[in-house]
Amino acid sequence: MKFKSIVTIFLLSSCLAPAQASQAKDGFNLNTDMESTNTQFSKANSATAENPLLAKWEGAFGGTPLFDRVKVANFKPALESAMAEKLSEIERIANNSAAPTFENTIAAMERTGRTLDRVQAVYGVWSSAMNNAEFQLVESEMNPKLAAFSDKISQNEALFRRIEAVYNSPAKTRLTPEQQRLSWLYYTTFVRAGARLKPDAKAGLSKINQQLAGLFTRFSQNQLADESERFLVLKSEAELAGLPQSLRDAAAQQAAAKKMPGAWIITNTRSSIDPFLTYSDRRELREKAWRMFVNRGDNGDAHDNNAIITEILQLRAERAKLLGYPTHAHWRLDDKMAKTPERTMELMEAVWKPAVARVREEVADMQALAKKEAADIKIEPWDYRYYAEKVRKARYDLDQNEVKQYLQLDKLREGMFWVAGELFGLNFTPTSNVPVYHPDVRVWEVKDKATGKHVGLWYFDPFAREGKSSGAWMNAYRNQERVDGNITTIVSNNSNFVKGKPGEPVLISWDDATTLFHEFGHALHGLSSNVTYPSLSGTSVATDYVEFPSQILERWISTPEVLQKFAVHYQTGKPIPQNLVERIERASAFNQGFATVEYLSSALVDMKMHLAGSQKIDPDAFERKTLAELRMPSELVMRHRTPQFGHVFSSDGYSAGYYSYIWSDVISADAYDAFVEAGGPYDKAVAERLRKNVFSVGNTIDPADAYRAFRGRDPKIEALMRKRGFPVNGSKEVKPTPAKPKAKSR
Ligand SMILES: [Zn+2]
Repeated sequence: MKFKSIVTIFLLSSCLAPAQASQAKDGFNLNTDMESTNTQFSKANSATAENPLLAKWEGAFGGTPLFDRVKVANFKPALESAMAEKLSEIERIANNSAAPTFENTIAAMERTGRTLDRVQAVYGVWSSAMNNAEFQLVESEMNPKLAAFSDKISQNEALFRRIEAVYNSPAKTRLTPEQQRLSWLYYTTFVRAGARLKPDAKAGLSKINQQLAGLFTRFSQNQLADESERFLVLKSEAELAGLPQSLRDAAAQQAAAKKMPGAWIITNTRSSIDPFLTYSDRRELREKAWRMFVNRGDNGDAHDNNAIITEILQLRAERAKLLGYPTHAHWRLDDKMAKTPERTMELMEAVWKPAVARVREEVADMQALAKKEAADIKIEPWDYRYYAEKVRKARYDLDQNEVKQYLQLDKLREGMFWVAGELFGLNFTPTSNVPVYHPDVRVWEVKDKATGKHVGLWYFDPFAREGKSSGAWMNAYRNQERVDGNITTIVSNNSNFVKGKPGEPVLISWDDATTLFHEFGHALHGLSSNVTYPSLSGTSVATDYVEFPSQILERWISTPEVLQKFAVHYQTGKPIPQNLVERIERASAFNQGFATVEYLSSALVDMKMHLAGSQKIDPDAFERKTLAELRMPSELVMRHRTPQFGHVFSSDGYSAGYYSYIWSDVISADAYDAFVEAGGPYDKAVAERLRKNVFSVGNTIDPADAYRAFRGRDPKIEALMRKRGFPVNGSKEVKPTPAKPKAKSR
């Protein structure tokens, strides 16, 4: 079993986690015995010829997904046939009469499920970027089956005994370090998934996983419904007061798409709500938009997520108990870099207080400005972005719309490619001879600049559209590996930029440009991978480490080299003026109170909900109580309120794991300092150390060891505090784990 055959990574701002994050462990009727499964397999085999999802990927670059031939009706038979094929491969390994060895057990497992990997790669794309009512029916049926399928493998007694034998064998010391790490990963993952439970407990566990898979799918579909079916209609010029032209154009396009000519529509997603809240002069409309957005999944109607959350939390608590952990949070953290919930709470609490103090200062500044403008108001959550923008202009003479004129999507993409060339020696050239699933998607071939050798492919799906999840993410359609010959990777970046008028350059905000670089950091993590086994490849690392490569890459957008060459005015072609760059720099820690508190409040609620054990939780009440205890400032809300917290409730992926972003940011800020301390952001020696110890190693070594090899010590929190403009006191080390996490036995 490959643990992360499909890797999906979300940006902090991503509202809706596409469902395939959970798919790597998902499938089949638990009680199906092998015989009937095999029958199904041979029956399905005859259908293979007509089902393009089951075909080998063809063409250049070691083959690419046959996106142009996919029909929704293909998914169910393809998944069922591919699951059956993998199960029969696994049965052969489990029932091998030869004594267990690394080769005939662990390496053999790495060779299984090739067809399923291909099918799931495409399934994931449809789930996150091509979703519709027809596909949702397939998801609702197949996700619980995929969950059962995964349990069927991890609960295979004979298979686990072989894995355990390899892991405990004295011969293990003769394996390569990567092989030893892989043996440890298999053993640990199986134990964590319940391989040691008694048969009735195993059955109970699998039932819980299937129930959860169904609930996750319903949660996502409800959220998608509230984001697409609810919207704000503006009917007159007067209701557009304050909105920049680009936002008016986008709103008019939305209205046209919904057959409401002459009106303007603000959709219920972050990419339209945030700018509306920033610019609309109409306070009552801001409030209306804000309420619509923060109440997604919380409207007491058919798409309400509260009851689903209560059920998810109870099932997770029950599962943790079965597996021998006090809470779901303890189970989730056990194989992460942070190791325990307590360590994450310690970090979050250390940052919480200075961040709240900064919010008070920000609010005072906004209140003063509102007063000066003779607005007799108390700052409310729907005012925060609006007045923050005014303070930004007044204090730093920085207007986001002025900056935007220099941020053309195409140019910035060239800028990212240039950075990848400087840091990692990669070269990107467009290629048009591979199929895509939508005309907006473009593909680049990635080569080694020095040798000209093919490295991989990078797919880019930049624009928002119906049926595509909001937010931004990266995924890998195929992992780099060399178990049997050299397999190169295929990665993709996905975002939701608003498409401009035909023929006009797409201008994006500074925040969106940062997002672009962030996701590209994940892509480079995948593209730099240089390992043998696919389960250890690229971004298949702990969730609290995986944001480090992406967050550090964000820093290169503000380097003078990138700004001068690639931030050029969309009309004049002139590079961004130096004094504007300086104003951007001076304002870099502006509004960090807001950004940090809205993020941390979500991360703290996530952790506390999953530490609460098996009590029955009313999500709204729990959220209110927790925020009151934290003394959450009343002027802002959680970035993701519970009923719309897709990171946490659309899969297990980031559950008790939203802290990962700040944990990783401590590391990325500390790592960037290594460049600053040396020759600057393009220092060749530091870049090479980063490639060698972080970007290329995947999960072949413990992340704490990898970081020490790069930095010569553990990460410290100071760089993060400085980056966010918070006071630094004392040297608090974020002490990572002891070398190898021990598997927790029941
Ligand atoms: Zn990310």
